[in-house]
Amino acid sequence: MMSHYIDNFADDLGPEKVVHIYEPKSKLRAIVVIDNISLGPAIGGCRMAKDVTTQEVFRLARAMTLKNALASLPHGGAKSAILADSGTDEKEALIREFAQAIKTLTDYTPGPDMGTDEECMAYIHDEIGRAVGLPKVLGGIPLDALGMTGYGLSVAAKVAANDLSLALENSRTIIQGFGNVGKAAAKYLSDIGVKLIATCDSKGGLHNPEGIDIPQLIKAKESGTPVSQSRLGKPVSNEELLKIESDIFIPAARPDVFTEANHELLKTSLVLEGANIPITHPAAKLMHQRGIMVVPDVIANSGGVICAATEYQGLSESDAFKRVEATIERNTDELVKRVFKEGLPPHEIAHKMARERIAKAMSYRAHM
Ligand code: NAD
Repeated sequence: MMSHYIDNFADDLGPEKVVHIYEPKSKLRAIVVIDNISLGPAIGGCRMAKDVTTQEVFRLARAMTLKNALASLPHGGAKSAILADSGTDEKEALIREFAQAIKTLTDYTPGPDMGTDEECMAYIHDEIGRAVGLPKVLGGIPLDALGMTGYGLSVAAKVAANDLSLALENSRTIIQGFGNVGKAAAKYLSDIGVKLIATCDSKGGLHNPEGIDIPQLIKAKESGTPVSQSRLGKPVSNEELLKIESDIFIPAARPDVFTEANHELLKTSLVLEGANIPITHPAAKLMHQRGIMVVPDVIANSGGVICAATEYQGLSESDAFKRVEATIERNTDELVKRVFKEGLPPHEIAHKMARERIAKAMSYRAHM
């Protein structure tokens, strides 16, 4: 059903359904956007945060439509948000109530996202028998513990660097956000020779041109020490971090970090989008004009959803690693080569690649 505000962002792909949930008794408030299901039932994260808007959920759902299509998964794209503080004492009750509220939305299978984890997915699975990113005992493949998204980023780095003739050995790398994605990316990238010169968390950053000791930093973080207080480099502010010159920059924290207003701060050769939508499209276009190669989120950070889809099919951890590697290798290579050949910004090429696959799938549908 269309309403006036949906017209602001609806297009030929979707959204197929926008559902607002409000349970007066428990005060559960949630938004579900199922964007496009041409390729199959949709998979997409369920985030828990107070301040998520319908438009944001739609943008994230659209990113999942494109990401799943690019990863050749038999799944469409969706996303949901429970509008509550993820630290609430009522978390389990809200999650269970949310699960009941989406019971009849059988085209949507939720996975973990910001503010939710495998335990939350276990509650949803218990209620309605539908969730991915489950605990190992329920057949899950622990994608954050394995660092699947970070692993995929290292695969994208290897392929893009090769296509760009950028030497990876000792290449100066910055990771904004030392969380699940950032930590794993640092670990897998160091295995292929890159040097982490700066990183941060929400409390501040750390700079060490000689290279940060990654195992020590992970240890410090796990014992509750903020990145900037780890004594493994010089503390810098999160704003200063964006200005440090590098060869590879990985935003792995939050959306809209670089916009038209601040894109010039970035001095690097290769960007791998670890977070979702960390660079606005106008800013990405300007970066392209400055000769920076950006491997977009829909390709670079697809390791997590490829792993979730592998779990959905009942396959193993090693199948997931193989799929992540093969898919991200193929897509990154096609992307970089087409950027050079067609001269368009990487986001446009990635969207063309995804849309070509979705259009083909939609052409087989009798009812649109
Ligand atoms: P996380 O919460 O584990 O880590 C986020 C990190 O960013 C933390 O270190 C946090 O302190 C830091 N951070 C938050 N706000 C910041 C700010 N304003 N400035 C600097 N640092 C800040 O989350 P995650 O699972 O690593 O996910 C990071 C991003 O990647 C999110 O946008 C998420 O949607 C996206 N993503 C995650 C996965 C996955 O597999 N976990 C897959 C695809 C995309």
